[in-house]
Amino acid sequence: MGEHKKALKVLCEHKNFVIAANYCEQVFKEEKAKALKSNNALNALKKKKVNQSEYDFGNALYNPLFRDLIEVFLERKENQEDSDFLNFLNARAGELNAFETLRNLPDEIKSMNSQQFLLSIIKFSQHQLKQSQTKEGLAYNSLLKSMDRHAKATSRAVKVENGTLCTYCQQPISTSVFVVFPNLQIVHYKCLRNKEESKTKDLKEKDLSVHPRSNIDFKQNPWDL
Ligand SMILES: [Zn+2]
Repeated sequence: MGEHKKALKVLCEHKNFVIAANYCEQVFKEEKAKALKSNNALNALKKKKVNQSEYDFGNALYNPLFRDLIEVFLERKENQEDSDFLNFLNARAGELNAFETLRNLPDEIKSMNSQQFLLSIIKFSQHQLKQSQTKEGLAYNSLLKSMDRHAKATSRAVKVENGTLCTYCQQPISTSVFVVFPNLQIVHYKCLRNKEESKTKDLKEKDLSVHPRSNIDFKQNPWDL
């Protein structure tokens, strides 16, 4: 048995149920912060997950210690006043895994004045479901938008023929290297402007985002496809 579960057992034996619940909350807070910190630190080096404890605090949506607390409480032999336990269930409904908790609770507790708990837990589950659906919907929408944009961008083409002129110097493109701007205008590579920062250097670097004639900076003002 892990040290947390042992502690919860002692607290439950002494009927310190509120303290036990606070203990769970405190440990979860601290361990989650620690796990996230070490995950981040490690991720910076390698994309690897750390899992030093029996609980996966870092990835837990619900407090795994509450599951232990419920288990410890239900394991007790003596028939005690359950009001603290029911109060706990009601108060922490949003921090409990609804399905797991309902599965683990014995029928006598479920039927015991626990209507409030059931209502709270259903309310929180619906709220969480709604939130995750909204997030999913937004992500899906933006995925569709970028797929559409990508399709439009990759399906566009320009045809360079004998008479095709550079939109900067008005000379034929012919066999020279050229660039195509997002608005489909063609410019000789040699006609592109040099990048500001490379003007003083020997090696001239061309600015691929600004059209040398119209001065449109396509990096600053993305072209609407
Ligand atoms: Zn040109």
